[in-house]
Amino acid sequence: MSEKQRYTVVLAGNPNTGKTSLFNQLTDSYAYVGNWPGVTVEKKTGHLTNQQGILIDLPGVYSLNPLSADEKIVSHFLINDDFSLLLNIVDGSQLARNLYLTVQLLELEKPLLLAINMVDVLENQGSQINTRVLQENLGIPVVPVVARTGLGLDDLKKQMLIFGESHDRTAPFRLDYQLLERDIDRISEKLPDGVPVSKRWLSLQFLEGNKAVEEYLASLLDIKILQAIRNHAAQTIGEDVEQYIRRIRRTFIDSVVSRSLRKTSTGNISMFQRIDHIVMHPYLSMPFFFVVMYFIFKLTFDWIGGPLSDLLDSSVFVPLSLGLQKLFNSIGIAPFIQDLILEGIIPGVGGVLVFVPQIFSLFFFITLIEDSGYMARIAVIMDRLLEKVGLNGKSIIPMIIGFGCNVPAVMAARTIENPRERLITILVTPLMSCSARLPIYTLFAGAFFTNHQATVVFSLYLLGILAALILAKTFSKTLYQGEPSVFVVELPPYRIPHVKTLVRSTWEKGKGFVHKAGTFIFAGSVVIWLLSYSGPQGLGLNIEDSFLAMIGKLFALLFAPLGFGTWESAASLMTGFLAKEVVVSTMNIIYATADVQSLKGLITQNFTPLQAYSFMVFTLFYVPCIATVAVIKNETGSGRWMWFSILYSVILAYTLSLIVYQGGRLLGFN
Ligand code: GDP
Ligand code: MG
Repeated sequence: MSEKQRYTVVLAGNPNTGKTSLFNQLTDSYAYVGNWPGVTVEKKTGHLTNQQGILIDLPGVYSLNPLSADEKIVSHFLINDDFSLLLNIVDGSQLARNLYLTVQLLELEKPLLLAINMVDVLENQGSQINTRVLQENLGIPVVPVVARTGLGLDDLKKQMLIFGESHDRTAPFRLDYQLLERDIDRISEKLPDGVPVSKRWLSLQFLEGNKAVEEYLASLLDIKILQAIRNHAAQTIGEDVEQYIRRIRRTFIDSVVSRSLRKTSTGNISMFQRIDHIVMHPYLSMPFFFVVMYFIFKLTFDWIGGPLSDLLDSSVFVPLSLGLQKLFNSIGIAPFIQDLILEGIIPGVGGVLVFVPQIFSLFFFITLIEDSGYMARIAVIMDRLLEKVGLNGKSIIPMIIGFGCNVPAVMAARTIENPRERLITILVTPLMSCSARLPIYTLFAGAFFTNHQATVVFSLYLLGILAALILAKTFSKTLYQGEPSVFVVELPPYRIPHVKTLVRSTWEKGKGFVHKAGTFIFAGSVVIWLLSYSGPQGLGLNIEDSFLAMIGKLFALLFAPLGFGTWESAASLMTGFLAKEVVVSTMNIIYATADVQSLKGLITQNFTPLQAYSFMVFTLFYVPCIATVAVIKNETGSGRWMWFSILYSVILAYTLSLIVYQGGRLLGFN
């Protein structure tokens, strides 16, 4: 195939159909596996394992129209990019809905291969798809697969090879659009020869209002002529053109599905329905959600993550630090290096790494929620609430990802079509307490609220959510006027998650944290230690005379009304802008401790419980970390919104901490 163009296969399908799983099976490289619409935002490319060529993973979409950022990417790609074969993956258990995109792809008249995924789910539901009938009706090869286990993939690869060798065209596919046929022809006639895709497809997509196609056509000819035809078409048929097209496609799909889908037994459907009866119940759904979340926090902090973290501390970091100290003493290393390692790097990096168990445990449960199908249900349950504050159900996705890390969370807001809801989601997402803030809570809650750690941490998460809801409401009333959108979410069936996928996804999510500890926090610890080691009068002085203390003292005055007006707290908070975990690293360095237990001890001497809570509230809100700030600028395309998010969060943090501390004192806490 050397002379020929490179063999390019393009993977297209609805969200959640197993695109990423199939991608991983067909290529050597690995891509993120998740369970909600919109996870695959960026373009992924991999090398096909069994033949020369590449596979491109398109974002998951339900249709080419209406247009969100994802659908735009797909439409644009289909028009402008060259490829050898379209591989359309559909969820066999949601056949009718999935075929809507398939019809639009068929109309493109490019080589198309259909993979029916999740046939295992289908069997569980007691149904069967007759692929031969489907194949006859659609005129393309149809291969049943289970992307998760690899069943049927040999057959799929064989079909892909056949396509690769013969460069076969699909049998012509043509739906009769009845009253619209004349207008389709009239538009097609206007299009110049040599357009890279089917004229009929372009005409149809234009008629149903595909903005990407419209933009493309406007670059070729005077779009007004085409718009006139579309308006005329609407008059002739006496209804919305898009709706008309949709109905004809639906009728076709329904007849195909009724011929090819066979129900053999009742399967487990009734069990799923019974689960949904509770999970989606108008009154019970919210309490159920909170119980689930609380349970996850209990497991993460009190039952699994916490104890593991203590074990890590006492059996790895403490011995390591002691061992190194002995080693350095015996080989007589320079005191400067010795201090840098024992008082800078180990406390800084180690102080953050001990929280790995909590972080991975939290990520594990978030993945479990995604993969089981519960996440999509949370979006639906939350829609009722989020709609009231000017957001929509899809906003819950960035918000929940935000519990892990605000950076991908802000990026996940791309799946929200409505610009107003998208902006507000971006602005409030950093209020979701990310995993980098966890080490701070874990440290303080562990020191001051030993028996109520989970409750205290849970309260901070709730506070973040509450603040996000109130601010979303405020922002949507004041900042940006616009129409609210209509929320449609598709409920995937429940699935028992696969252990391998769970572990992989958890690692994918959490590895960034470990990586950050090895690079960013490492460098930060060195710098902070140097600042604490040097001062205007020279090196190795008392830490009270260091540069770090000087800077801290400047800010300490400002923080006094909040209950933590010490230079130590101020210096930790400042360095925390780099990454919130650095707050803990800095404290470890300043208080010259090497293990969590002794740091906790020192902290209890320097804070009261009320001050500790006020400090945690402040770190929750005070400013998104530097990486989040950067993506906010990127995603909103404006420095103005970036500054706005910094400013409002500082004000919010200050106000809430002030209320907590001063209010608490009035109530007699200390
Ligand atoms: P994408 O959103 O289209 O990229 O889909 P993913 O590959 O992320 O898969 C979504 C979910 O479906 C994951 O939890 C997968 O483990 C699961 N999944 C994928 N293929 C299959 C399959 O053939 N059978 C079953 N039961 N689950 C699958
Ligand atoms: Mg995916």
